[in-house]
Amino acid sequence: MSAATYRAVQATGGGKLELVERPRLTPGPGQVLLTVEACGICHTDTLTVEGGFPGLTHPRVPGHEVVGRIAAVGAQVSARWQVGQRVGVGFLSGRCGECESCRRGDFVNCANQALTGIHHDGGYAEQMLAPAQGLVAIPEELSAAEAAPLLCAGITTFNALRKSSARPGELVAIQGVGGLGHLGVQFARHMGFRTAAIARGQGKRKLALELGAHHYIDSEAEDPAQALQRLGGASVIVATAANPASMGPLMSGLKPQGRLVIVGAGAEPLKIDVSSLLFGERSIAGSNTGTPVEAEDMLSFSLLRDIRARIETVPLERAAEGYARMLRNEARFRMVLTTGA
Ligand SMILES: [Zn+2]
Ligand SMILES: [Zn+2]
Repeated sequence: MSAATYRAVQATGGGKLELVERPRLTPGPGQVLLTVEACGICHTDTLTVEGGFPGLTHPRVPGHEVVGRIAAVGAQVSARWQVGQRVGVGFLSGRCGECESCRRGDFVNCANQALTGIHHDGGYAEQMLAPAQGLVAIPEELSAAEAAPLLCAGITTFNALRKSSARPGELVAIQGVGGLGHLGVQFARHMGFRTAAIARGQGKRKLALELGAHHYIDSEAEDPAQALQRLGGASVIVATAANPASMGPLMSGLKPQGRLVIVGAGAEPLKIDVSSLLFGERSIAGSNTGTPVEAEDMLSFSLLRDIRARIETVPLERAAEGYARMLRNEARFRMVLTTGA
């Protein structure tokens, strides 16, 4: 990188990513300039690369699992953030402070939430401007590539469990052992839940047990809801799969008052047998990542319990290849771009 320019990979619409050289950035009020070290590739990046998300314009640099160091600080940024400090940026990078949710302290649901890599350029780049209020402090013990996927996949599964009503010792199921689920299994185990992992086939059994699952349910060999009922019924099921059709039938694996928490996005609608809601007063909810300070809680917990994402790294200039690998579901289990910084 010459001093005057930096390299970025931008989405130009229709699924295309191109490597470009851009003029060096300067942070405005409330912003910091990051020297990006690593950025995870998340399935949600399809919203930017394929296009169509409300408020998105192209070209746009995707990436919302960003770790780097602060290179410059703009005006009106709190003294908490200093040049040289290691920080991260997740999906929810700024709250308005004025909408009803913000006034109630519910920042995740800010009506004017700035989404990293959608409303402003993200981390598929050597530099990035980030709103200071979206920054996450990154402990020195974690490498940039290790920390990056935790900022979206990690906080998503951590918060889905931490905000649930499940209590230590109760049965919790994680549906899917992929990019999200392989972290969900670790968090569930280390939070003290009896942990069941649900995936198709026998291929993920060994990994799921290694990650800490007490039970493995092969959804091709048996009905996962019946398998959960044989274990006493789950208090919470965290559904991480990308196909909603697989989620509805899980409802009857919940105990009375149990909850299906959906963190995996899919295009088709969710179909639910209403009687499984009524009889047993079960419920369904979504969970959307978390706030920056909750991400800091998640990183401390990950260090405390040695929880890490399993990653494959790819240099920034090969972002399109890494993205395609994620799309084909070949990543084991999170792809992370590295800049060499
Ligand atoms: Zn994400
Ligand atoms: Zn707001």
